Amino acid sequence: MIRIKTSRQLAGIRESCRLLGTVLETLESSVAPGITTEYLDEIARREISALGGTPAFLGYQGFPGALCTSINEEVIHGIPGRRRLNSGDVVTIDCGIIYDGYYSDSAVTVPVGAIAPEVERLLRVTRHALEEGILAASRGNRVNDISRAIFQIIRENGYGVVRPYCGHGVGLAIHEDPQIPNYVGRGPNPRLKAGMVIAVEPMVNMGRDEIEVLEDDWTVVTADRSISAHFEHTLAIFNDRTEVLTRRNSELLHSTAEVSA
Ligand code: MG
Ligand code: MG
Repeated sequence: MIRIKTSRQLAGIRESCRLLGTVLETLESSVAPGITTEYLDEIARREISALGGTPAFLGYQGFPGALCTSINEEVIHGIPGRRRLNSGDVVTIDCGIIYDGYYSDSAVTVPVGAIAPEVERLLRVTRHALEEGILAASRGNRVNDISRAIFQIIRENGYGVVRPYCGHGVGLAIHEDPQIPNYVGRGPNPRLKAGMVIAVEPMVNMGRDEIEVLEDDWTVVTADRSISAHFEHTLAIFNDRTEVLTRRNSELLHSTAEVSA
């Protein structure tokens, strides 16, 4: 069941998303060679608590972190730990918060020091896929319009598409209907209506599509161990516009012209 949000709920979700944006900006600027992902998790817990929120992932189905931190070949659901980041790595920081009962969800893949040009391209294309998905997420369109836009960018750049995990409704819980796949499948294809809040989140592999789950039962990695990237925003659909609720000022560095290169 897709939950259409009231204007009061939308205001609460917008605030949750704004706060999450500030947390992610702090985390992004904290990434440096030599730090551990556990350190990022500590920062997240402290920042979220200082803002009056709660980490949405902590304890969700037993997940032990406030963040999912996924390094290089890790796609999603990496558990923060003692592994140190090296220059040339990429780390995906995925975070959700609950503020005043309202949920937000956003992810970014961050370069650690200087990264190889081909990895830079992977990040640029994944960000572009997200932006194209956002452009397709207008009232009256359908979920498949978002999926198709994302899939097309990924495929025309020769990358792998992660299929078993996808975007989703969000706002009153961390995962709500509908599912928003990053490819056009045979699942439900509802029309986008005013009052819907969705998380759009392309996960893109430099190599093949296939993924595996590690022994810890959480960490999803590429089957061929190629590098993976993941960008996610929470959006609200209105009659006359779509608002990217988790958009951060720091993203202005990545203009559409730049990402489409
Ligand atoms: Mg997320
Ligand atoms: Mg999500």
